[in-house]
This record gives sequence, structure tokens and C-alpha cells, in this order.
Amino acid sequence: MEYGLWVNGEWLTSEGHKVFNVYNPATENIIAEVAEASLADVNQAVKSAKQAFQDGRWSRLSFGDRAARLMRFADLLEQKQDEFVRWESLQTGKPVKLVTYSDFPFSIDNLRFFAGASRVLEGHATGEYDGSHTSWIRREPIGVVASIAPWNYPFLMGMWKIGPALASGNTVVLKPASLTPITALMMGPLAKEAGIPDGVLNIVAGPGRVIGNELVNHHDVAMVSLTGDTQTGRAIMASAAARVKRLHLELGGKAPAVVLDDADLPSAVQGIAVGSLVNTGQDCTAATRVYVHRSIYRDFVEQLKSVFQTVRLGDPLDMHTDIGPVISQAQWTKVDGYVQEARKMGAEIEIGGTRPASLNRGYYYEPTLITSVEQHWPCVQEEIFGPVLVVLPFQDDAEALAMANDVDYGLASSIWTRHLNRGLRFARDLDFGEVWMNDHLPLTSEMPHGGIKQSGFGHDLSRYALEEYTTLKHVMAETEGGTVKPWHFTVLGDTPES
Ligand code: NAD
Repeated sequence: MEYGLWVNGEWLTSEGHKVFNVYNPATENIIAEVAEASLADVNQAVKSAKQAFQDGRWSRLSFGDRAARLMRFADLLEQKQDEFVRWESLQTGKPVKLVTYSDFPFSIDNLRFFAGASRVLEGHATGEYDGSHTSWIRREPIGVVASIAPWNYPFLMGMWKIGPALASGNTVVLKPASLTPITALMMGPLAKEAGIPDGVLNIVAGPGRVIGNELVNHHDVAMVSLTGDTQTGRAIMASAAARVKRLHLELGGKAPAVVLDDADLPSAVQGIAVGSLVNTGQDCTAATRVYVHRSIYRDFVEQLKSVFQTVRLGDPLDMHTDIGPVISQAQWTKVDGYVQEARKMGAEIEIGGTRPASLNRGYYYEPTLITSVEQHWPCVQEEIFGPVLVVLPFQDDAEALAMANDVDYGLASSIWTRHLNRGLRFARDLDFGEVWMNDHLPLTSEMPHGGIKQSGFGHDLSRYALEEYTTLKHVMAETEGGTVKPWHFTVLGDTPES
């Protein structure tokens, strides 16, 4: 397959016809050739988005019309579900089971949610606060939004970015990750067919440090929304400072799962296995550190080991495959680096810690469970982004809470207990944007998702995402008439007393 750049409602080749390859991480084979945008191509995409924003071809549609076109976009995507699922699985190595039953339908539901929610966007009619002016608040789109997406959920993250941005009247330049640009590019023609005007959604692929950086620095880009690594978030914040640009940053995570002594052990084991292995552990909310009460610690480890032994690694296109490869050789080496470092520091690798013997092609890594680690070690503090889980014991609730909160990240967490009050105390005290009680992972279109601390700021999903992509304007209308207003003397003329 070959893909160009989707700009102003048509496919373009890149300047100089430069292209790059996309690989299947399960086979290491090339599966597509994609146009690599130059700086001039990025400029062209921004120009088209700016023109589309300024002439109001999207922002001034009636809310109903805009929503109807987004609904139609969702319908058209859904009609092509099989193609999207296949390409998503091919480019990421994600099990087709996960894409079919989770990523894809959730993405479509997100888009439909934003289409509907955009119709109840409102400012507030307010009042005459100073007695002589009526105030009201307009909620307005921001302008051209640069949406920069990661490789772990290319279609879903693409949707989380373009859904609320378009629903609230902005125009978009979407930059997918270079490892996984295909399903984002596939959206272009369907957006056009759905009646989304040319220039409203532009999609360009290429290296983040070059074209992503150009988008961040571009004079005509009003907002940058990134989902990516915390390091990338820092780089973007630094660049955006020059133009005081609006940012929305969904960054890394290192989610704890805290298992109290009164937890339902089999359900905690099952839920944490699923929560840690989802998408081969390449999930910003994945359970990565488990803190288990000392009294049930060994039972938990043994039971989790048993579940890990049943995981089926293999061909992502096989509906029976539980987990696929990690995304690339570089990611494999990074994941293995953390495991081998922990081993050298004295950790116990309870299971896994290597490539599965039966799979000699593709970037496969065995589900790995590590114990006998210390809280300050890199494998406990840093985002590994692979099927690797560390388990530590704790003595009491206060110690569990302190260890769970003791990381730079603040995206997601879970608490496992049968005791409601204890669970509610943890829900209050865990320093994360998301807390699950007796589960780990589920999200819903209606509720916000976002981090604190070095996991970034701003929210995806829910009506709160629409707030990220809009701005408030206060309008004040004078009601009394007359030339000289009672307050004018403060600038021109004498005080009332004189
Ligand atoms: P990444 O930061 O390497 O890349 C993300 C995107 O940023 C890519 O499109 C990349 O090309 C671009 N980019 C890189 N450097 C850039 C720069 N200097 N300027 C502009 N753009 C630049 O992240 P990744 O490896 O693709 O994705 C994995 C990361 O994403 C993990 O840290 C994960 O936790 C995070 N993530 C977070 C969430 C969330 O909701 N918080 C969701 C999914 C993934």
C-alpha cells in the first residue's frame, strides 16, 4: 500500500517525493510506503486548515449540520470496520481481538459522543453586573489545532484528538506517529465523503522532531494537543513557550494497583493480569506496579504467575491471540533493558524476561513478573511500556498509599478491596487523574480521562474535552445610551465631587 499526505481534501505527494516504510512488528516485513511531509508540506497543511477556519466553512455551520456530518463520518468508518481493524492490527501488532472488540467500537462511540455533545455546547447568558452593561459569554473554537498522536493506539488516539477538536468547530492538522500512520491517513477520504469540508481535517506523516516540531512552532497553529511520552511533552512545552501556545498534553503513566488484605484475591489477580497485559503492556494506564498486602503477597504472586502462563502470544490476526509483539526492535530492547537491569540489581524474575522460544520473528516479549525489587529502582519508577509487571509487598494502608503515590506520573491507578470505606479513602488520596475500584482499565465516552503531575494536563473524552478545544469570550454590551458614561471622568474630566 502507498499513502500520500491528506491536505485540503486530496492526496498529495510529498515535496521531493520522499517516502518512508511502515513495518509489521509481528513479521518485521514492510507493509506500506508513506509520504514523508517536508516543512513546506506542513506549511501547506496549516495554510489549508487556516483558510478553512477563517472562512467559517466549518465553524459557522449550524451545530446540527456539523454534528450530522460527524455522525455520518462515524457511520462511514464503521462500514469500513474490517479494513480499519486489519490495518490497525498489521501496523501495531495488536491482537485483532482487541481492535475488533475494544479500540474500534470505542473510537466510533467517542466520535458519536462528541458529535452529540457539541450540540449542547453553550456560553452563559449572564446579567448586568455593573448596572449598565449586559454581559454574556461566548464559547468559541480556538482555530487551527495540531493534533500529535502516539503509536500505541493510533486509531483511537487519532479519534480522541480529532473528535472534540472538530466537534467544537476547529480545523485540524493531524500528525500520526511514524511507526503507525496508516489508519489515520485512511480517515481522510471518509471525512470528505461524510461532508466535512476540504481543509478542515488534514493528515500529514513524518518525524516528530522535524514536522511535529514545525507544527508546534507554526505561527498559524493556535493549539497543540499531544498524546505521547513525557519527554516529548517537555520538548513541546519548551517550544510552545515562545508563542505562549495553548497546550493539551496527555503523557506517560506508571499506574499502581493496590491490593488490600480484604480484596477478592482471584478477581484482583485476573483484573490486574488483564490491566497489565492490555496492548502488550503498551498502554499509558496499564497496571505496572502492584502493591499487595504482605499477608496475601505470596499467594497473589503465585496465582498471577499461573495466569501469565496461560497467555497466548502469536499472530495478531488470529482471533485467539491474547497479546502480540511490542511495536519495534527499539521498544523490545528498551523493555528487555529494564528487565535485565532489575535482574542484575537482585530482582527475582518470577516468569518471562525473554523472547518466547516458539516465536523467532517479530518483536515478541514474554509476559514478565518481577519481584524482590525496591521502590526507587528504575523498573518501579519509570514507564517500561511492555508486558512487564513489578509486585511489591506492603505492611499497612499508609505505606501502600505512600508507595503508590511515590512516582513522577499521575495518570491512572486502582484499589482492590471489599471494604467500601477503605476503597473510598484510597480513591480520595491516590494522586492520579483516574482511580478504579476493583477493576483496572475501563473508560467511557462520557467521563474524562487525563493526568496530573508529569502525566500532563487537560482531558480527553467527555464534555470536558470540548472545553479543552474551546475558549471563552466575554461580551459586554452597554445598555443605557448617552455620550458621556458615569465612569468616563476617571479618564476624561472632573470627579463628581469637584
Ligand atoms: P512519543 O512522544 O515518542 O511520540 C508521540 C508523538 O509525538 C509522535 O507522533 C511523534 O512523532 C511526536 N513527536 C515526537 N517528538 C516531537 C517533538 N519534538 N515535537 C513534536 N512532536 C513530536 O510517544 P510514543 O512513543 O509514540 O507513545 C507512547 C507514549 O505515549 C507513552 O509515554 C504513553 O504513556 C503515552 N500515551 C499517553 C496517553 C494518555 O492518555 N496520557 C495515551 C496513549 C499514550
